Amino acid sequence: MLSVIIPAYQEEEMIPITAKTVSEILDGAKIPHELIFVNDGSRDGTWGQIVAAAKTIRGVRGISFSKNFGKEAAMIAGLAYAKGDASVIIDCDLQHPPEKIVEMYGLWQQGYKVVEAVKLSRGKEGVFHRFAAGVFYNIISRATGIDMRNASDFKLMDREVVETILKMPERQFFFRAISAWVGFRSTVVEFEVQERLRGDSKWSLKSLTKYAVTNITSFSSAPLQVVTLSGLVFFVFALILGVHTLVKFLSGAALEGFTTVIMLQLISSSILMLAIGMIGYYVAKIYDEVKGRPRYIVEAETGETDAENHGDL
Ligand code: UDP
Ligand code: MG
Repeated sequence: MLSVIIPAYQEEEMIPITAKTVSEILDGAKIPHELIFVNDGSRDGTWGQIVAAAKTIRGVRGISFSKNFGKEAAMIAGLAYAKGDASVIIDCDLQHPPEKIVEMYGLWQQGYKVVEAVKLSRGKEGVFHRFAAGVFYNIISRATGIDMRNASDFKLMDREVVETILKMPERQFFFRAISAWVGFRSTVVEFEVQERLRGDSKWSLKSLTKYAVTNITSFSSAPLQVVTLSGLVFFVFALILGVHTLVKFLSGAALEGFTTVIMLQLISSSILMLAIGMIGYYVAKIYDEVKGRPRYIVEAETGETDAENHGDL
């Protein structure tokens, strides 16, 4: 059986459409399946729609978070609840074309453990968004050694891969990269990003920035090395200036140079503060991980129970 995991946040308009479309495509392709909607603490009627879909469409299940935990948490929760031999994650807004699932399923049957869907192009984006995404993916690709530029969360994973990921103890991880990081036999399919049918993108500038910072720091300690590097550069700078100052002093022309002093103060204190802030950020992350809080809290479940579900395994 194939589990389709669909994270949903404020998607009340999309739920019925998505449930119907995905079910019909999979039924048409004769792929035994379940759809797992994860309501990520939406404040609109998303959960009501999921419950309704679970009543009317075969194989639809749903879980509901107690609050908004973010898409990464929703995907992990979906994987934990999935019962299929393979799981595929797809956006609720149908920007990931569901027909691709059939192709991905076929590749899985040929023995691939991970099937990544990569974007042919990045769809419609503003100039700033494009630039910021470019910078982010550059850093992340370097940190992971994997080309992430056109990666998406749309991917199919074998049970074995899912189990491996679920066993990882870290609370915060960057889902897109983790499926490549775990290894296994993998392949890619390409897809064209679709227009969002209803509702709006859930990403604000603030949430995107947070997403970038969290993911860079959870995959790489390079920012800390940047601090060390700037320290080194500054040290060389200090050496040269030190010699210069000494020479001036010895030659009896030492009163000049207040500009230099002020510059030094400004530069060094700002670098120090940046450095402390950066280290503080990592310490805070360690603190978060050490607390070991759950990644998500499930408040409600709906849909077929275990017993009914095993017929088509
Ligand atoms: N999503 C979620 N939790 C969030 C934000 C988004 O589960 O906090 C879901 C959302 O419902 C959708 C998917 O993640 O299914 C992608 O979100 P969106 O379409 O807003 O992102 P974009 O396509 O603009 O990158
Ligand atoms: Mg979208």
